[in-house]
Amino acid sequence: MAKPRVKTILKFIGGINKDRIGGNCSVLEHTDETGKTERVMFDLGSMFTPYESGFTAAYPNVDEYFDRTDLKTGKIYKALKPVNTLFITHAHEDHIGALINYTKMGYTLPPIKAGAFTRNFIRLAFAAEGMIAPEMEKIKAGDIIRVGDNIEVEAVDVSHSIVDSLGFYTLTYNKGKPYAAIMNNGDFLTEEEMPVGKAFNKARYLDTLKRKKVPTTVLCLDSTSTTPQSSERIGFDKAVENTYNAVMTHADRNLIISPVISRSVQNIAIDVETARRLGTKIFLDGKWLQTVKNAMALSGYENFDDVIYKGTIQGYLNDKRLTKKYIVCTGAFAQGLENYEYNVGIDDTSPIPMSSATKMALDLHPYVKIDKNVLILARQRIIEEINGRTGPKMLQLFASQGAAVVMTPGNRPVGGFEEVRMQDSGHANANAVKALMIDVKKAVPDVIVIPIHGNPEQCRNTEEIMSEIGVKTYVAGNQEGLEISHGKVINVEPKVTPMTWYAVKSVMPNPFAEREIPLEGMKEYWEVTEDYHPLQKICEVQNTTKSKERGKYNNHEKKISQAEEMPYREQMRKTSLKTKNKKIKTAYDLRKKMDKRNR
Ligand SMILES: [Zn+2]
Repeated sequence: MAKPRVKTILKFIGGINKDRIGGNCSVLEHTDETGKTERVMFDLGSMFTPYESGFTAAYPNVDEYFDRTDLKTGKIYKALKPVNTLFITHAHEDHIGALINYTKMGYTLPPIKAGAFTRNFIRLAFAAEGMIAPEMEKIKAGDIIRVGDNIEVEAVDVSHSIVDSLGFYTLTYNKGKPYAAIMNNGDFLTEEEMPVGKAFNKARYLDTLKRKKVPTTVLCLDSTSTTPQSSERIGFDKAVENTYNAVMTHADRNLIISPVISRSVQNIAIDVETARRLGTKIFLDGKWLQTVKNAMALSGYENFDDVIYKGTIQGYLNDKRLTKKYIVCTGAFAQGLENYEYNVGIDDTSPIPMSSATKMALDLHPYVKIDKNVLILARQRIIEEINGRTGPKMLQLFASQGAAVVMTPGNRPVGGFEEVRMQDSGHANANAVKALMIDVKKAVPDVIVIPIHGNPEQCRNTEEIMSEIGVKTYVAGNQEGLEISHGKVINVEPKVTPMTWYAVKSVMPNPFAEREIPLEGMKEYWEVTEDYHPLQKICEVQNTTKSKERGKYNNHEKKISQAEEMPYREQMRKTSLKTKNKKIKTAYDLRKKMDKRNR
């Protein structure tokens, strides 16, 4: 028998998509001279699907890598290529969004390693779904984690719009000697201090890259913002100043509403600082904002107690001491808007999950009414690959009800609204990437760059920038396996079969039939092609959230302690079809009661 060949292969499972952001996931596999293979996975995110697809999110297919229990028969399907450890760079949906849904589908997640905030956020997110979180270990920059015999992963600090973002520097070994090095930056920025959390430390980053002599160093580089049009950063102080000025320009409007991406902590920090200057307090409206706040507190970050209002939204809106009210709410991307309009019509018992900004825009928010007193700070740039037409539409709905809208300019103008730069992207721009890579090339002259986290055009932009400074690049695609050896990247597993994803569909009620869908919803999981053509239904799962907890944001302490005490790897409770009808009825009755009370 031929001697096994030593090899390190990097495979992209998702994240380099033809037209949409998300689904970030890669696997690094190393085979030693005895033929033993070890694997680590980086991130497991969801992809934001277009509305027309009918699916609410899609996930990279991990069938090869995780064991799965068939929810109907209980049969266990063993993974062909089991992953030893899953490392998570940060808690954005496009990097962790598949975890909960894969658990619901019956997959067994490998042990996870993540930064403090990321780990706490995941635990709270599982708890909010009434689910047991997977096994997770907290790591921090500088930690070196040995996986099996021949893989070593070092966590490095990177800056991003969320705290505790990590990059991972992985070394594979052959007979005790470094064989290949792969730096996965995650999503990153290279400049400026972060208002919250740790910043990118270039000196330490370069030191990590050159500490060991390795035949090949590959750097996976976030390309989201490496477009020639991407502007220079204005920085935190200027962003606060511009936001404050926008509020003062509309001094007659006393209800300020700032829809954010709930996990863009650095952007929430801009609101917090602006509110401080205005001498007022912020109300956080939306489940995920509360989860972020709790995860921040659990992770040892400043909890903004002086600025965040404690109490109910009714109490806040009626508080006479606060002349300016400042609501930071979920929904920069208007989640739920199109589903609502197309599937339900105007009906306030809609089971469709929607962000609080969407509820306000549709006049469905139980407490906030949009009128001439309202100023909307649309600080999050509108990103078409994520929200399609819904972002602009939400702003127009606000304006039609009398609100003044000030927005951060995006790639194209929207509806003639006033534009003020109030926010920066969380990703390094072309100039910043170039400046960093000049120094990286000095540290490791043979470095090879693989552009990631962008569409093919953005990846080619990175390639162009690299060619200007003489850095080799390899533009990969999903499903390609790249062998990294002796100064080269060789495509050993070219994409041959059509790529498939798992996509989730929230089952919507038929507007012409008696309502038969439970409030908490039913989810169908499908295998789909890259164009979202359904191939087969994998399973259907009823949401495990308990109805009575819906809408209650004031039992955080209980949730936190529950999350802390959760046993690991307990089997998720399965729901059989028999109990479905009873549950539907209970949920519907409960909702009717809640509605009566709210009226
Ligand atoms: Zn991110």
